[in-house]
Amino acid sequence: MNEPIIKRRSFLQATAAGTAAIGLAGPSLIVSGATGIPPKPALLGGTPIRQTPFPSWPIIEKNDEEAWMEVLRSKHWCRLGQKSVEAFEKEFAKRTGSKECLLTANGTSALWTALNALDVGPGDEVIVTPYTFVATVNVILLQYALPIFVDIDPETFLIDPDKIEAAITDRTRCILPVHIGGSPADLDRIIAIGKKHNIPVVEDACQAHLAEWRGKKVGTLGDAGCFSFQESKNLASGEGGALLTRDSELIDRCYSFHTNGIRRDGPGYLINGANLRMTEFQGALLMSQLTRFEEQSRIRVENAEYLTDRLNEIDGIHPAKKYDGCTRHAYHLYMLRYEADKFAGLPREQFLKALRAEGIPCSGGYGSVKGTYALNQQPFIMNSLNSRGFRQIYSEERIRDYVERNHCPLDDKLCTEAIWFFQSMFLGTREDMDQIADAILKIQAHAADLAKA
Ligand SMILES: *Cc1c(COP(=O)(O)O)cnc(C)c1O
Repeated sequence: MNEPIIKRRSFLQATAAGTAAIGLAGPSLIVSGATGIPPKPALLGGTPIRQTPFPSWPIIEKNDEEAWMEVLRSKHWCRLGQKSVEAFEKEFAKRTGSKECLLTANGTSALWTALNALDVGPGDEVIVTPYTFVATVNVILLQYALPIFVDIDPETFLIDPDKIEAAITDRTRCILPVHIGGSPADLDRIIAIGKKHNIPVVEDACQAHLAEWRGKKVGTLGDAGCFSFQESKNLASGEGGALLTRDSELIDRCYSFHTNGIRRDGPGYLINGANLRMTEFQGALLMSQLTRFEEQSRIRVENAEYLTDRLNEIDGIHPAKKYDGCTRHAYHLYMLRYEADKFAGLPREQFLKALRAEGIPCSGGYGSVKGTYALNQQPFIMNSLNSRGFRQIYSEERIRDYVERNHCPLDDKLCTEAIWFFQSMFLGTREDMDQIADAILKIQAHAADLAKA
């Protein structure tokens, strides 16, 4: 069969001129008016579906420039005794419904601060997902603790709550779920497990600004929640981080740790610490970006949900599912699984190339770049465990046992199937979403030819 079956009419509007549809009852058949051949993929010399870029990120408006210049001219660039960072701490706490908020230099330092304040240290184990950015694991290793990887649920891309309890030992000191892509992990189950075993839960919400679990903002349900305002994130100040908690004693320890151990409530030192303070520039930019934050989030959700409706109709494309408790997704990433079998065996790398040629930015996500691996198999982890510091803490036997336990086959597979679209692609129009879906349909129609090319 030469002609592809196309399920959606909107495909027609976006394809190159010279095509015509023969409307059938149900699916329509797309062929070129002149030759009877479907429109050629851009990778094979056809016209790209999209010729204009998607919205760029970050977005800069006049209020950002003013906010920035105001800090510059004030000559007060450090948070101590100044106003922007504190103002944003109050504002972010208010918008998330958190009792406490501490801003930090970046998301990594927010996570590191949380683990420190919770007294995660040498010899301890921290339960974590392998499907995350490397920072989530680095902060565990920075504490000379062991990252214990629990496999993911391939439907959601999130840590599988059914597998957490089996990974708990008497050394488990923290559970660190990640709301990857902005999709909340199963917080009902994870927090219940934490309570049952008396283990604190730290949410890595670095991609999940404004995401909600049963109507409450993520980052406020665990013992602590951490956010990132790095340039690519849904709220951005170049670098930046936030730590939320309802625990006033914990926030005192966090505050101290992030500013060289200085007490929050007066002179002197509480604990050892580092300097992980946010600058006034970052604080001011966050305040100015905040004016557009809710509206941008709303547009992302609308577009992403529309795209899901379209992609659910394409055989072999599986958008990541949400858990029932997810009442709002942040769509920092739009994640899906690609099934090559439904694309004439076209390898994912070729599919991504073809999609980019159609003008659709995309990525294979974590562990997909040639020569790299799923996070739990990255050589740097064993390099750390073999370092002098770790060797002084952990016996050969314990490291051997660690290596034996460190398997996440479903995540390994996910890393070969995943496809991502990026948050700023969702700030435009519904037509943008149609072009993404139509480009995929076009590739599917020509998958056999693309596989040969
Ligand atoms: C971005 C990110 C971090 C780290 O945040 P930085 O601000 O870059 O330090 C941690 N975890 C996840 C899941 C992230 O996406």
